[in-house]
Amino acid sequence: MAAIASTDASPSARGDAPRISFVSLGCPKALVDSERIITSLRSEGYELSRHHEGADLVIVNTCGFLDSAKAESLAAIGDALKENGKVIVTGCMGAEPEQIRDVHPGVLAVTGPQQYESVLAAVHQAVPPTHDPFVDLVPPQGIKLTPRHYAYLKISEGCNNRCTFCIIPKLRGDLVSRPAADVLREAERLVGAGVKELLVISQDTSAYGVDVKYATSQWKDREVRARFLDLARELGSLGAWVRMHYVYPYPHVDEVIGLMSDGVILPYLDIPFQHASPSVLKRMKRPAAQEKTLARIQAWRAACPDLTLRSTFIVGFPGETEAEFEELIDFLDEAELDRVGCFKYEPVAGAPANDLGAAIPEEVKEARWKRFMEVQQRVSARRLRRKVGTRQQVIIDSVGPTVAIGRSKADAPEIDGHVHVAARRPLRVGEIVTVKIERADAYDLHGTAVGF
Ligand code: SF4
Repeated sequence: MAAIASTDASPSARGDAPRISFVSLGCPKALVDSERIITSLRSEGYELSRHHEGADLVIVNTCGFLDSAKAESLAAIGDALKENGKVIVTGCMGAEPEQIRDVHPGVLAVTGPQQYESVLAAVHQAVPPTHDPFVDLVPPQGIKLTPRHYAYLKISEGCNNRCTFCIIPKLRGDLVSRPAADVLREAERLVGAGVKELLVISQDTSAYGVDVKYATSQWKDREVRARFLDLARELGSLGAWVRMHYVYPYPHVDEVIGLMSDGVILPYLDIPFQHASPSVLKRMKRPAAQEKTLARIQAWRAACPDLTLRSTFIVGFPGETEAEFEELIDFLDEAELDRVGCFKYEPVAGAPANDLGAAIPEEVKEARWKRFMEVQQRVSARRLRRKVGTRQQVIIDSVGPTVAIGRSKADAPEIDGHVHVAARRPLRVGEIVTVKIERADAYDLHGTAVGF
């Protein structure tokens, strides 16, 4: 995912506040980093500019996950240099600064992912702050790049797994979990500021707390363990929708399903399975790959019939045979996942997977991807049709002249489908309404608001 996030600034009382143009590329985790940097800059009196031209400085938060993302990052840096000239680079690509300096020797500074202090130091050096605490008030929840009614909540950095196609542990290091009380304080501030939906993210959400041996921290009148189940329960008590992303099917995930059927957190699990053939999963070194996935899915659905399962897969992994691909297709047919994304394998420089088997020719990858999508589209459409005639709670994301666009509990922002809502009164962004579902198409639902 890539997002340009040159956020507009509120006009300052001073005419001379330094102005910064910000480009945020990459995944939601990178977006959270961008939000933190911007929050700090705003608290120091910097303003944000919509355009590179006329700004005092440009910051580019890069993504280095795939070669295509790196190319996009390098192009964004090139544009910033051309249009402005003063550029600081941060984010995943910053972990290997020579990749940037070889192409763009003119950048002022390069810092790596989560190096907030280094980014700020580089900004101070290039454009010193003119801080006025009476003017530069930042709202207590920080500056959000997501709409006000939902927010990403990052619970840890890094990853202890070593999936062979991924260089994130190399870029971001091993798992470092935030204390539970820290996460809860941030979540409470966000909810207090009007956020209605918290999207819990990390590289491996179900591994939360493993690195700190599930240490407890003081939250209100009680001690809370840094453990997936305990954190989920506490987050669910804050009064917002809580949606879990990047969960691996470790055995203890079963316990969280109970919180979903009890309505404490959303009945939604985003589990990046990536493949279904045991031999490919082994070559990928995927976490929890040995678990009996189909049986687990059936048990989860029996315990929580409303559960939505989203996943992502990779086709054309090095050495993937026709038989292994067929195993994946059979899994799709049986697992009946609700929402699925599929990527054609792309070799990432430095990833061990590139040497694990023969590269799959592009036309074979393409054919497998098409077949995969056809099968999954049928499954997804079938599952969506079952919702016709039901009533769903829908959070409104945007409003148009006749129809508002929202999402049900089954739809995460940016990656899943929408619900198109007709209503007899104007709806507000962030409002949660009950919608009677009248129609389904391949990805979206359509209905009428019946409860406000
Ligand atoms: S779980 Fe695997 S794919 Fe995800 S960040 Fe960790 S190593 Fe990479």
